[in-house]
Amino acid sequence: MRDRETPDLLAELALDLRNCWDHTTHSVWSKIDPELWALTHNPWLVLQTASRTKIETLNADPQFREQLSELVHRQRESLKRPAWFQQAYPDSALGCVAFFSMEYALSEALPIYSGGLGNVAGDYLKAASDLAVPIVGVGLLYQQGYFRQIIDVDGTQRALNPYNDPGQLPVSPVRNADGDWLRLSINLPGHKVWLRAWQVQVGRLKLYLLDSNDPANQPAYRGITSELYGGGSELRLTQELVLGIGGWRLLHELGIKPEVCHLNEGHAAFVVLERARSFMAENDVAFDVGLNVTRVGNLFTTHTPVAAGFDRFAPSLISGYLARYAREQLQIDLSRLLALGREHPDDHDEPFSMAYLAVRGCGAINGVSRLHAVVSRRIFQCLFPRWPDAEVPVGHVTNGVHTPTWDSAAADSLWTKACGQDRWRGLMDTVGSNIRCVADAELWELRATNRLELVRYVRQRLATELAARGEEPAIAQSVFDPNTLTLGFARRFTSYKRPNQLLHDPERLVRILTNPDRPVQLVIAGKAHPDDKPGQAMVQAWVRFVQRPDVRRRAVFLSDYDLLLAERLVQGADLWLNTPRRPWEASGTSGMKVLVNGGLNLSELDGWWAEAYSPEVGWALGDGQEHGDDPAWDAAEADALYEILEQRVIPDFYTRDHDGIPTRWVLTMRESMARLTPQFSANRAVREYTDKYYADAATAYRERARDRGKSAQSLLDWKAALLQHWADVRFGDLQVTTSAGKHHFQVQAYLGDLTPDQVRVELYAQSRDGAHPLRYQMTQGNPLPGSAKAFGYSAEVPASRAPDDYTPRVVPWHPAARIPLEESHILWFR
Ligand SMILES: *Cc1c(COP(=O)(O)O)cnc(C)c1O
Repeated sequence: MRDRETPDLLAELALDLRNCWDHTTHSVWSKIDPELWALTHNPWLVLQTASRTKIETLNADPQFREQLSELVHRQRESLKRPAWFQQAYPDSALGCVAFFSMEYALSEALPIYSGGLGNVAGDYLKAASDLAVPIVGVGLLYQQGYFRQIIDVDGTQRALNPYNDPGQLPVSPVRNADGDWLRLSINLPGHKVWLRAWQVQVGRLKLYLLDSNDPANQPAYRGITSELYGGGSELRLTQELVLGIGGWRLLHELGIKPEVCHLNEGHAAFVVLERARSFMAENDVAFDVGLNVTRVGNLFTTHTPVAAGFDRFAPSLISGYLARYAREQLQIDLSRLLALGREHPDDHDEPFSMAYLAVRGCGAINGVSRLHAVVSRRIFQCLFPRWPDAEVPVGHVTNGVHTPTWDSAAADSLWTKACGQDRWRGLMDTVGSNIRCVADAELWELRATNRLELVRYVRQRLATELAARGEEPAIAQSVFDPNTLTLGFARRFTSYKRPNQLLHDPERLVRILTNPDRPVQLVIAGKAHPDDKPGQAMVQAWVRFVQRPDVRRRAVFLSDYDLLLAERLVQGADLWLNTPRRPWEASGTSGMKVLVNGGLNLSELDGWWAEAYSPEVGWALGDGQEHGDDPAWDAAEADALYEILEQRVIPDFYTRDHDGIPTRWVLTMRESMARLTPQFSANRAVREYTDKYYADAATAYRERARDRGKSAQSLLDWKAALLQHWADVRFGDLQVTTSAGKHHFQVQAYLGDLTPDQVRVELYAQSRDGAHPLRYQMTQGNPLPGSAKAFGYSAEVPASRAPDDYTPRVVPWHPAARIPLEESHILWFR
């Protein structure tokens, strides 16, 4: 009994990814294998690799056994404790949210991510666990994940794809009630594809991952889940079929019945079809009813700021893979399915857009920052012809990061002292005021500690990289200095992120870095997608720059940007740089990771920074306008970047009081930490999604699902009536009079064969100064004599704007419908 206990408890701890943000178990792993632990931070690997003798020795140590059982006990107890969700929603209709994403960046021990999108998903699950929001994640287990980067001496990037051995990943096979491995299948043309299912424990939550590498499969199908964002469009399509259709079936097999499906980007959009299909099958209704019931339970989060960023598939490819599914499972024509992914349903050449399918299959849509929602409304406007941009139904929830994942040990203890142990698990309403009470010296001490750690790490990592390339590693020991202002820049190398902005005028950058009185050091990292040649050229330009003898000690490029490296960089950097072309950074998250560590941001006014920036919390680049990829503007912004560094950042950092503290710098740190850390946390994001979307979606879905979708049927009848009769709706005369500070509008509307309760007549005025547009419902008056279904409508509005600003319009109306998302007819007076 005793003999088994220790390995079992260790496995329980090692398999819970909570260990990547709750550091209390770390001493256990470093006792087992300090070297492997330091190298990988992968408890499961440490445990798998440990010798039996080692475990037996530890098992014989009563102190170790006690520590272990204490840790496990604490962990189990904390899972049972009610958290924010139970307090905020004691009687909620929300039992389960299924969150679908192509990638998850939870831990370097589970490399199934590429970058930002995965990061958002991973941090989101962690925060949902902290708050006990009932979410299950669904994703894919890639045999190779995303590529790893090696840099040659001449700066050429090489891509490697090492194999993910499931036995060494912190995942366990999903078993059925009999304890057998769960096996699931979906049909691709002609053949069945077997899928294996894995589960990942993320604190309180489970993430389920599917993979197709089952020996029973045809060789081609075994490779469906080989690489993330690799291969061509056929591979991508099959991956998305596995994610959406396979993912929903897996939940069904496990008896999980989510009220809400959250699509993290359009990749997962096939789930809307499969969810509708399963409602059809269970309730013996048609596809349209199934879709109309289930869509209000689906939420689509778009992450892309350009329409070209959406996945689109050739109609022939969709037809090859989905014609039979449409016919036999959904019982609709393929053309109907294709129409769901098109702007113009009748254009047979138009590709099938996953984002459009998501719009047609969801009850709500959101972008990932305020600015990104504005951009997304523009992108999706084409699906709502004649509706103003401002009314295109895209809201926003700005991304956030999981604070406990990104804080350094020193930051953790400073915040714990100031704000208590549970500060990131509740409402965080006193966090800002508490951190403001921390003394200057303590804040400055945090920076010094974190910077020193980074300097050590950079030296050690650089030495390894130089040695691997056959260069002399000794120089690594003389790079960087613990008291020098440290800038960090790490992200995907792709044109819109302009990673070479700082290289615009290399000599000016050299002067900044090597100023003897006020030196600056810079650490850079980032991968370019193997197909992105300009991205690789920018990697090379940086590698060559840092090899210059005059800057070797001040600028370092570290290869293979990943979660472990990101953690070190965001903890150690004094200033984080970000230079995207507005508005192409939908949100951006790496800058949020420095906040908890007292790092400051200097960034383009784009994505999250466009709403976070004020002069008290950091520095802004750009004029808040869009300039496309105009080289002249890029050059002007590069100059501005140098100037902000020279005139403001560097003086703030090096102007010290008699205690050696840079008071202005620390003031900015304090404001940034107090205002921004809670606001740009995943804790805030999870609560906002729950309050704004999940709670409503669950209620709406339950209502529509009642009586086998009866209300959805009435909605469909209403839509059919609108479709049939809308062409007959028209306006008659309009009269406007003004008196006593009011405009009185009178308009005649002929409704054809529609009844007055099926539509609304409104007065609309465009917004001024970015405010919300004005909408007034007009009151239905008497029937017009001699005409059927024609009425006078009237409204009174304040005369603060000219009468010409207002336009009457007819829009669809149904108490249960989301307009214009579900019904986008509209008729304007002129
Ligand atoms: C945070 C993170 C990203 C995303 O950062 P952006 O600012 O959105 O570019 C990408 N890759 C890694 C490894 C990260 O940790």
